[in-house]
Amino acid sequence: MSCIFCKIVEGSIPSTKVYENEHVLAFRDIQPAAPVHVLIIPKKHIATMNDVGPGDWGLLGDVHEAAQHIARQEGVAESGYRLVNNCGSDGGQVVFHIHYHLLGGEKLGALNV
Ligand code: C5P
Repeated sequence: MSCIFCKIVEGSIPSTKVYENEHVLAFRDIQPAAPVHVLIIPKKHIATMNDVGPGDWGLLGDVHEAAQHIARQEGVAESGYRLVNNCGSDGGQVVFHIHYHLLGGEKLGALNV
């Protein structure tokens, strides 16, 4: 298995976990782009948003449920935060195991969207 996030799930690569349940793992990004920068992933290997199958949408619901919990846990729920999924090359995806960045703890710059 070559996926770095699958290795984090199985524990062969260390991470700073902030949340875990049966289907979801969340850990601190090693190169934080904001004071709070947590990566939230389904434990199941799904490469990108394009690869989410018909039976996987519940897992993404689980990821969003985890994000709501983590935002409260990290103290950014009230001040606000950003949840970002990069998909594919033009989207800036570097690790091809679907993940959401939870960013907060400061006023984030505009995305021009
Ligand atoms: O969305 P994208 O694929 O660009 O994001 C991957 C993220 O995974 C990066 O922010 C990078 O810092 C993070 N990362 C990590 N721990 C690793 C490898 C990558 O937090 N071992």
